[in-house]
Amino acid sequence: MTDTSIELPHEDPCAFCDYLAGRRPYTIVCRTHLVAVLVTREQRGIGHVLVVPTRHCATLLEATAPARHALIDTVAAAAARIDDVYERPGIAIWQNNGSPAHQAISHLHFHVAGTLPRGGTEFGTVPELSVDETDDIARNLTHPDRPPVCQQR
Ligand SMILES: [Zn+2]
Repeated sequence: MTDTSIELPHEDPCAFCDYLAGRRPYTIVCRTHLVAVLVTREQRGIGHVLVVPTRHCATLLEATAPARHALIDTVAAAAARIDDVYERPGIAIWQNNGSPAHQAISHLHFHVAGTLPRGGTEFGTVPELSVDETDDIARNLTHPDRPPVCQQR
């Protein structure tokens, strides 16, 4: 639990922990003991992924130093991979702490997304893709000739 003032969205059990444990289907691009990269079913940009700590942690304020370091390295690697694969003119990265900041799932996550053709990313309603569709995005991001986005440390 947190001793910060941050108001978390109420969610029990944690969706990301369920995905990481394989209790609910979701596309996992790669994972290490510290971080994982997921393909969100709500694509708000082109090649939109989520970089999360493997171990449950609600916000950035509670993350351990090793997790924070692995997260930022993986965010950068994911951005580089999106650049390589999708060749977008911009890449947006965002991370929200607490419901008033629009954190929807109370498990720390960074969004990394290539910009849309009109620029920016979509913060309104987007279609929910199937896991088959997000699996296709993961295949694009994990070409065998490219190094893994999640680097073991
Ligand atoms: Zn969790």
